[in-house]
Amino acid sequence: MPDRPQGAAAFEGLDESAWEALCDGCGKCCLHKLEDEDSGEVYLTAVACRFLDQESIRCQCYPERQKRQPACLVIRPDAFPEIARMLPHTCAYRLTWEGKPLPDWHPVRQKGSQVQMQLCGHSVRDRVISEDRLEGEPDEDEWQALIIGEWSPL
Ligand code: SF4
Ligand code: SF4
Repeated sequence: MPDRPQGAAAFEGLDESAWEALCDGCGKCCLHKLEDEDSGEVYLTAVACRFLDQESIRCQCYPERQKRQPACLVIRPDAFPEIARMLPHTCAYRLTWEGKPLPDWHPVRQKGSQVQMQLCGHSVRDRVISEDRLEGEPDEDEWQALIIGEWSPL
């Protein structure tokens, strides 16, 4: 029996600021993903959305992200449970939905600081390339080669 609420109950009582604070700023959700049609498994690749600022790891078109990037995952409470499997296992929204505690490096446990998140190797900064730098659309084999699987912290 979990000691934390799971599912929709886990998000109850979170106001907008608490909801936004759940994002650790890792940028993993902004990586292109491949989905195994048979198993439904989702794999992260080392290619980031062109709108992800590679220095700040922030979206450069946040208010209109869905219009500018149709594949963008807009993360809201009512997007669960469908969206959960598309998020990395370390994503605080996914962890919260699953009733799991946030890791010690999470900014919520670090007075809002992302330093520990970065030091623990969870930021995509310097580890991925922007899709703008790809020379043409990769074919299926090339996408497969770009899979980084479940994120391995440094
Ligand atoms: S994966 Fe989750 S915690 Fe990380 S940036 Fe995306 S929404 Fe925020
Ligand atoms: S458009 Fe979506 S996927 Fe692209 S950087 Fe912004 S939030 Fe991330």
